[in-house]
Amino acid sequence: MIRVEQLRKSFGTLEVLKGITVEIRKGEVVSIIGPSGCGKSTFLRCLNLLEQPTAGSIHVDGVDILDRRAEVARLRQRMNMVFQSFNLFSHLSVVANLTLGPIRLKGMEPKAAREKAIELLRLVGLAEKADSYPDELSGGQKQRVAIARCLAMEPEVILFDEPTSALDPTMVREVLSVIRRLAKEGMTMVIVTHEMDFARDVSSRVLYFDQGVIHEEGTPDQIFDHPQRDRTRAFIHRIRSLTRRFASPDFDLYALNAEVEAFCEKQILSRPVRDNLLLLIEESLQLCRPFLAVGGLEMTLSHSETTDRTELVWTAPGVRLNPLDGEDLEDALSLNLVRNLCASADHEWVDGVNRLKLVLKTGSES
Ligand code: ADP
Ligand code: MG
Repeated sequence: MIRVEQLRKSFGTLEVLKGITVEIRKGEVVSIIGPSGCGKSTFLRCLNLLEQPTAGSIHVDGVDILDRRAEVARLRQRMNMVFQSFNLFSHLSVVANLTLGPIRLKGMEPKAAREKAIELLRLVGLAEKADSYPDELSGGQKQRVAIARCLAMEPEVILFDEPTSALDPTMVREVLSVIRRLAKEGMTMVIVTHEMDFARDVSSRVLYFDQGVIHEEGTPDQIFDHPQRDRTRAFIHRIRSLTRRFASPDFDLYALNAEVEAFCEKQILSRPVRDNLLLLIEESLQLCRPFLAVGGLEMTLSHSETTDRTELVWTAPGVRLNPLDGEDLEDALSLNLVRNLCASADHEWVDGVNRLKLVLKTGSES
């Protein structure tokens, strides 16, 4: 139904979309997720020509829409968009918001348009608000009116740009329920959303956008439960990380501890977890000392907000050396502490790089 090839969009020197290729079939519900500023809205806006793409092509039912600019109004009826900020006309009643497009653009009779509008308001649970004005409605009600207004144009595809992100948490559900219902009825939809649980159960396919490209795509199961790429995984599990390099044994331990403390603060780690982490860093650094003398050492500390997992990874290029073997008697105490603090501790040597992965025990395990 929609075929997008190598779509690019720049604003001046800022390249926002760097070659998006995707096909959307009739009846599909495609969710787009990804960090803010990665081009999700720009992509939707290009689809219905609110933005003019810099390069690439968009075909809708085989017709090159970039070639047929005269039919923009018709295209926007077929691919109608629902915005984060509702965009209702505040000087018009609810029902007038719904009938405006059909009367003006589709030449519908006012009476028929009103009947149809009331029917759609009933569908979104707001028939009794037909003669109210937008300012008299809650955010959730406004967004449901916006969806009904969109449906009044009888679109073949609906594009949603973060339809719930301007709403109070209590109103998110009523709007998502309406979208779920449309999905069940087979409406083709492209939905940019931050609501991961919703994206998981409503979508047939999920696109993970990052840095202006589709970084990974798949079924909800693939993307949410088995993401293949690091950036996807970091986004899904809300993993934040801190990386530091150590070039010599004379690094500034106080500065390191302060940075780790700041990281813990940001991730809202509890005091005991922080203390354990600081101890783990100090003791495992003791074990990794031999690496400092040779090729240098890198530390990556990461924490996942969704799984609550805290991981410390040391990497060092060079000959195979497992700090956990602990042949040095001096290291026996450190080794013991490291083992006690960790749920798992593994060493591997791949492509000439030693990698020591330590997973901190959580409260319940320690
Ligand atoms: P997302 O929806 O994923 O958060 P957007 O598509 O809104 O991201 O924006 C992507 C980038 O493009 C951002 O850096 C944003 O500032 C920039 N951008 C969006 N629209 C414009 C515009 N009209 N002019 C200049 N820059 C823009
Ligand atoms: Mg956006």
